[in-house]
Amino acid sequence: MIKRVVYFLLLVFFIVAGIVLFNTFRFNKVLPIQNSMVISGGADSVAQHLSKAIQIKTISFGDTLAIDTTEFTKFRVFMEASFPVIHEKLPRQIFNQFSYVFTWKGKDSTLSPYVLMAHMDVVPVEAVAESKWTVPSFSGLIKNDTIWGRGAVDDKASVVAIMETVEQLLKENYTPERSIYLCFGHDEEIAGRRGAGTFSKWFKENNIKPALVLDEGGQIDLQHFKDLNRPVAVIATGEKGYVNIDLTVEIPGGHSSMPLKETAIDVLNKAIVKIREHQMPAIITPPVKELLQRTGPGGKFMNRMALSNLWLFKRMVIDQMEQSKEMNASIHTTLVPTIVKAGIKDNVIPSVAKATFNSRILPGQTSEDVVNFVKNAINDNRVAVKKQTISLMEPSSTTASDHPAFKKIESITYKIVPNVLVSPFLMLGATDSRYFRSFSDAVLNFIPIQDPKGFHGIDERIGISDLKRMMFFYKLLITEKQQQNK
Ligand SMILES: [Zn+2]
Repeated sequence: MIKRVVYFLLLVFFIVAGIVLFNTFRFNKVLPIQNSMVISGGADSVAQHLSKAIQIKTISFGDTLAIDTTEFTKFRVFMEASFPVIHEKLPRQIFNQFSYVFTWKGKDSTLSPYVLMAHMDVVPVEAVAESKWTVPSFSGLIKNDTIWGRGAVDDKASVVAIMETVEQLLKENYTPERSIYLCFGHDEEIAGRRGAGTFSKWFKENNIKPALVLDEGGQIDLQHFKDLNRPVAVIATGEKGYVNIDLTVEIPGGHSSMPLKETAIDVLNKAIVKIREHQMPAIITPPVKELLQRTGPGGKFMNRMALSNLWLFKRMVIDQMEQSKEMNASIHTTLVPTIVKAGIKDNVIPSVAKATFNSRILPGQTSEDVVNFVKNAINDNRVAVKKQTISLMEPSSTTASDHPAFKKIESITYKIVPNVLVSPFLMLGATDSRYFRSFSDAVLNFIPIQDPKGFHGIDERIGISDLKRMMFFYKLLITEKQQQNK
């Protein structure tokens, strides 16, 4: 009898091992290296134009603060002066004073248009950080083939590269096959409602269904996939949602010399700890799964074995991903306290304590799931839980990697980046393009910049070679024929 059991267990072991090895070796297919073109051309004026654009302080300070209309007006004047042919030939619509949509009519009206997006506003530079910059933060200095300053990467490089490319093509009297819309928002860094939020509605109301909406987000990554020994172009096919959850505790306060056993601050504090001790369940969404599948085969044997047998090693893979904050955020809806408020005086026990949690929601979950998770984790009815509706954005649907829009960007990327491996991924932050996702299944986030430096931080800068690669990329996108992509 015992012998039989042993034989049976051995048989099970060999079957499982056989399946695991079969999957591992079948998985062992690294995406081939494709021949790329040599990047040529690109206007020499592009660096000068980006330098000028950086010097105009189109800063988004905060959602409730007034914008500096003088700077945004200057930026409009800069655009008109730097790209005169676009302004002469393409009709421009203005949305909420400072966001612009240019329409470039194509030859073939049966083809769906492309939408190229970028934003003109930038985040501020903290006063304490200014002295840490190598150059003054809004100088737009050009040094060693690099342009320095706030907005160099995020996202004035795209604004200038798109405009420069189209300006050149118009000078050559080029007309695209399909119509192209150039969309520039002015408030992306403060949620984009006035810019992209408004012009996306114009597209929807006019029943314009783009074949592609392309915005910032993904990039060419040389840092995170060292095992592979080749650059990875990550093209975001979906974005996480966004919700703020307010916690409020009200317990009568009093004199601090005679505290109650539990004050409003104590109860709030415990609630915060309870939420932070757990995470919402991990989900490997389609873009992340595909990123693992495309980059996995080039990695170490153990990784290949685990990734090719998620049915068996899913928990192990998740545990490993949870070690890195980026990977953890790509498989979890995150929740983190960002504002805590209580108290007015050192000897008064406050009667109200409040906290705000910022949550980034995975596709497949909703803001209601987040609220329920928070309530269950706290399990204390003295804590009122409420989600904010003003900034709420449910997670987007994802664009499939076999969608013609993805195929198009993928094929162009292979042409412009030697040895590159292209993969979908999930955006952890939010961009203007999310406003299009509610009615378009063709939204992608990608700029062919290699390892962008300093965005939202110190020493933001971009190489002229990146700018030229971007122009080449936009040029191929606009001029390459692709009839099947209606
Ligand atoms: Zn940006």
